[in-house]
Amino acid sequence: MDVDGSIETVGPQERIMGVNRRVLHVDLTKGMAGELHPSQEDYRRFLGGQALGKHLLLRPNIRLDPLNPNSSLGFFPGPLTGYFPGSGTCVAVGLSPLTDRLGSSISQGLIGTAIKAAGYDGIIITGKSDHLSTMVITRKGIFLDDASDLADTPNSVTEEILKTKHSGLKPAIISIGPAGENQVRFASVQSGGRTFGRQGFGAVMGSKNLKAIVIEKGKLPEVADQKAVNRISREIREMTRGVNRYTPFTVHGTASVLDSHARIGTLDSEYFSHQYSLTEGLSTADLSQQTEQDHLACPGCVVCCARKSNIKLGEQEVTTHGPEYESTFAIGINLRVYNPEDIAKLEYLCDEYGLDVLSTGAAIGFLFRAVKEGLVKFDGGVSVEIIKKLIADIVARNGLGDQLAEGASRFAIQVGPEAEQLVMAVKGLDMAAIDPRGKGGIPLYGTALAFATGPEGAHHRRSIDSRETENMVPGNVLEGKAAAVARKEQQMAAMNALGTCSWSFGGFDFETYLAAIQAVTGLTLTVEEYRQVGHREVMLTRLFNALGGEKSSGENRLPERLYTERRFPGDAVFSKEIMADLIQEFNTEMGLDSAGNPTRQSLIQLDLVEYSDLIHV
Ligand code: SF4
Repeated sequence: MDVDGSIETVGPQERIMGVNRRVLHVDLTKGMAGELHPSQEDYRRFLGGQALGKHLLLRPNIRLDPLNPNSSLGFFPGPLTGYFPGSGTCVAVGLSPLTDRLGSSISQGLIGTAIKAAGYDGIIITGKSDHLSTMVITRKGIFLDDASDLADTPNSVTEEILKTKHSGLKPAIISIGPAGENQVRFASVQSGGRTFGRQGFGAVMGSKNLKAIVIEKGKLPEVADQKAVNRISREIREMTRGVNRYTPFTVHGTASVLDSHARIGTLDSEYFSHQYSLTEGLSTADLSQQTEQDHLACPGCVVCCARKSNIKLGEQEVTTHGPEYESTFAIGINLRVYNPEDIAKLEYLCDEYGLDVLSTGAAIGFLFRAVKEGLVKFDGGVSVEIIKKLIADIVARNGLGDQLAEGASRFAIQVGPEAEQLVMAVKGLDMAAIDPRGKGGIPLYGTALAFATGPEGAHHRRSIDSRETENMVPGNVLEGKAAAVARKEQQMAAMNALGTCSWSFGGFDFETYLAAIQAVTGLTLTVEEYRQVGHREVMLTRLFNALGGEKSSGENRLPERLYTERRFPGDAVFSKEIMADLIQEFNTEMGLDSAGNPTRQSLIQLDLVEYSDLIHV
């Protein structure tokens, strides 16, 4: 396979294939729909997904408030979405009400394929409907439907009602729960039991009075080489079926990583205060054995990492998705909830109300820690019932819940400077389920660097040093760390532009990616050109941060506690000097200035000339 040729466009019609070359734009204020037509050059530079989304959303959103009606929210599949096993990814892109930055949130499942099959490479929503509405996208046109009767309705009920109402369309549904309607800053967006969890895009939909989007079933665009797509699909199944790397996910779902994170010391309880040990009562096997689970897979994927659990809520038996690893951490171990059934119930509540489990667990975990430090008064104590009550209060913005609904970082600012020091977030995004202080006094500097420099904050789906968490590289060997973290971030950003799942595609080599891109689109990319797609996305995200003024500038640093607080005697903390050196090395690798902003020269080198006028140095 030749992977060294330069970019050229091939295929039967001498144009990029496997995409629709149109993006739907709906202005809810005007009640009008239009189309954007990205150029051939745009597809070559950004491919799709979050890279194309950020390219289209960056300029119109500079210095807007995320909950301002004029802000944009987009849903972008990638060029590979829908064609291969494990390539169903869709990325939500927009201004995050949690972080005030241009952020992204990734979901698997069917929704990305549905958007593409409806004839669009993305959907952008601006404006605000004057009443709660559902947007219905059909082949005959786009219309807004009154959704007043769906106010306060949980996600699964909304989905069922809309599927029945629009059964003739055989639709896919995107919806928000009551948390989104009440603009909880970490409200999620749901689709078919899958979640766009991070960034609070549910609140953005709520601020636009958009309860749901209904998308008529359609047909995917033609690819450049269908035989090659079929062959690569077979190879992907062979590369994932029964292979060691994937077997734990097949057997236990994403929660299979619980044991390994506990063993390497990156899993904590009590809001990153206590290093969790498997002897405390919950392991991967417990989760599988103590909940009644069914396996779930995205179309064609043999990894089959998702889970459905049957749980009892009073007299009622319901089915919930999960427990997933992140939820087991955030609303389980983090809050000292170790009973798998309780964790499944809390996850069910978050999904139905439409809350990001990570930021929900962070807000409540922060509260408990602040109470312990005497900074906040709260008489409720710590129990599963209290956690349920707090979740309900967050959703309804009731009492203390109203403050928690602003997210841990904003709540801490209200409490005072001491409380701010307790927050475990980067750039406003609550830290994912990985504590880089690690085990045995050996800190994971690459993981810490990835979190500190992540342009969207501590986002585990885009910035992580998996070589450390997979025990391939010691955390305290600093040579080559910054370069490896920069490269990994570019690779993950490129993968999120393609529309492929990072679990299933994460183990493939570049040849597979490049062959898949060529088979679908007809584009022949080199490894470097592919990586540049991700590099461009990183630069656009950083450019937006640089332009956002006070709200989104700087802050390439770890939460203060990672520099100062040991979870036990002999635990590691990070050196500020070493981190500062690593960050400067990282900046050089990425083509950033010493403040972490893109230089004009690096934008030009990356074919981002149209953005270079926004940079003054
Ligand atoms: S690995 Fe899991 S999330 Fe990824 S495509 Fe397969 S089933 Fe879906």
